[in-house]
Amino acid sequence: MAELELKGVYKDYKLENKTKFTALTDVNLTFEKGELVSIIGESGSGKSTLMNLIGGLDSDYDGEIKIDGIDLKSFKDKQLDDYRKKKIGFVFQSFNLIPHLSVIDNVTIALTLSNVKESVKHERAMELLDKLGLKDHAKKKPTQLSGGQKQRVAIARALINNPDIILADEPTGALDSETTSQILDILKSIADNENKLVIMVTHSEKVAKISSRIVEISDGKVIRDEYKKDYVKSEKKDKLLASQDIENKDLNNKKGHKEGHLSFFSALKLSLHNMWASKTKNILMAVGVSISLIALILMLSLGSGLTGYIDTLAQDYSNPNYVTISKSGYDREGNELEGDSGNFMVPRMFENEEIEEVASDINTYLQTEDSDFQIIPSGEGQNLTYGFSCATIGMGTVSTIPAVDEVTELPEKVRTENIMYTYTTPSYYTDDNLIAGNMSGEGEIMLSSAAINFLGYETAEEMFVDGNQPTVQLYINMTYDGVRIVINESVKVSAIVDVSLFSGMMVMYLDYDFLNTCVEQAQINASVEPTGLKPSLLFIETDGKETTDMINGYIETNRKDLSGSIEEQLASMFSEMMSTFSIALAIISGVSLFVALIMILVVLYMSVSERTREIGVLKSIGARKKDIKMIFSTESLLIGLLSGIVGIILTLIIGGILIGVFTALIGFAPISMNWYYFAIALLISVVISVIAGVYPASKAAKLDPVESLRHE
Ligand code: ADP
Ligand code: MG
Repeated sequence: MAELELKGVYKDYKLENKTKFTALTDVNLTFEKGELVSIIGESGSGKSTLMNLIGGLDSDYDGEIKIDGIDLKSFKDKQLDDYRKKKIGFVFQSFNLIPHLSVIDNVTIALTLSNVKESVKHERAMELLDKLGLKDHAKKKPTQLSGGQKQRVAIARALINNPDIILADEPTGALDSETTSQILDILKSIADNENKLVIMVTHSEKVAKISSRIVEISDGKVIRDEYKKDYVKSEKKDKLLASQDIENKDLNNKKGHKEGHLSFFSALKLSLHNMWASKTKNILMAVGVSISLIALILMLSLGSGLTGYIDTLAQDYSNPNYVTISKSGYDREGNELEGDSGNFMVPRMFENEEIEEVASDINTYLQTEDSDFQIIPSGEGQNLTYGFSCATIGMGTVSTIPAVDEVTELPEKVRTENIMYTYTTPSYYTDDNLIAGNMSGEGEIMLSSAAINFLGYETAEEMFVDGNQPTVQLYINMTYDGVRIVINESVKVSAIVDVSLFSGMMVMYLDYDFLNTCVEQAQINASVEPTGLKPSLLFIETDGKETTDMINGYIETNRKDLSGSIEEQLASMFSEMMSTFSIALAIISGVSLFVALIMILVVLYMSVSERTREIGVLKSIGARKKDIKMIFSTESLLIGLLSGIVGIILTLIIGGILIGVFTALIGFAPISMNWYYFAIALLISVVISVIAGVYPASKAAKLDPVESLRHE
């Protein structure tokens, strides 16, 4: 049985305009082991086409190509891959070495695709390199070799699996005459001493002289097929490529035998080599992708930082014996109230009947729960008191007004400071809430420690020595109950209040009754009915934490129109303040993640077209579609990891700077970075990279090997 047999082979190329071009016409050839065949013919006569058919790179032909009596057409994809990997060794005119791999890695690539053990690979490759005189060049990159050396590496690569057939398409076309004869000697000895079938395409008759047989093709037809009578077998029998101890791999005996495939680890190694070869590009891309990760991590950190901040605040302010009720801006079912303009700058106030209703509703609940506690909204034993709180930034100020008779020097320039927030003093406040001074009464206010420096003192204690009380001018100009009212009072500062994290801001506390009087006076001045202050907060003094928790729980589940705890109120206040900011950050982060995905996709896509030839080579060596897919998918995975790591490092740097800046400016940083935010970012980075890699990887896998090899 002939080693290789072509019977009535026709090859048509389909052209764009539905016509076809016949590149091979009725080719009938039989080849045996040990032959060194030269295929000659004009350029464009169909030599490469023939080689591609024999090599299993192109299955679109008519006629029969039989290997050891088996028709190539009967091969399934997997068998065809195996055929290319084990039975055929390709040598190309332009060497087609993979530039980012070392010589030895190029030689062993076919074994890598079969997941052969590292030590075995190394041994086989070194043996071949030694025989081809390349032992000392194993670690070099292809670019560091001469043309002849490159072609010898390519021959070693073709021989690594001990194939029965070597296909060399113009192997000396790019070499000078001296190296040409070197390469020819090698090919000749492969045929002679190894008993392999070597089919070599060549232009020149001169080169063809050393072969045992010459086949000439013209316009796709075999016009000459002649055996050389004077063919002399190579004499360098033992010198070059003497019998190897690699067991002969006969494809037909291989059926049912489990063969390894490209391992994930090897794919990882190949990808790393390639990424290293274009490291600048990859690092720049990673920095680009990492921007979205930075935005994401900072967003999460800010969210958790603020939540933590609110918790701290709430703990500082809450008292287990008090329930603090405010309106939530929703109805009882939790639907947002229509036309609700209330927020932390426009407080939602309670009417008298509403207060009665809330009290009796909660009392009913407490009775059904067999609680002894009852809310008493007014009169004897009253345990419900009123409060009011409002952000007064931009509408309230305190000014220093030196009293005339206190002046010993020239009067200081009047200074004015915005009041960030105005509170009525909660009924549960005690001296413990004060840094210095006494609780305020009629005509008095309390300020946060920002007032100490503002009023020209060093410490809070200094302000109140010997019953002294600094005087300030309080000016509030606000819309209250739909009417613009102005409070303009000269007031005494009675205390500095501990507002913990807010201490850098001017926060004012004053007695509810005093503010009530001020509002009434202002309403009279504005010529409207003096209704006085309506509460925005209801404080209920309970009989202990248990009742407090019960009432808070009831409000949380049954009264969506109210909010029961300081935690809840602070949280909603902050979420109002922060929601716009968070939405902006989320959009930035989402959009930039999408941009990152597209960016990775583009880079990978470009990488596929840059490496088209390499993909062709891998396929000619027997890489399966899966293997190609795996190589590119691992690369996208690595890009994801790299971007994630770069993102984490940059976030740590930027986050550190932000924390420093925040701390310097406002005394605390609302950023709390958690390790799992970094883990989430890393995961997202890997996921988007892998998603971005799907299309390029499958595109690479689908590339036609013949076209890829033609690719310039
Ligand atoms: P050779 O290797 O002998 O120079 P080829 O086998 O490469 O020639 O090409 C044979 C003929 O087939 C040429 O005329 C070439 O233009 C044509 N040909 C090769 N590949 C294609 C293709 N993919 N599509 C259309 N025509 C092709
Ligand atoms: Mg050609």
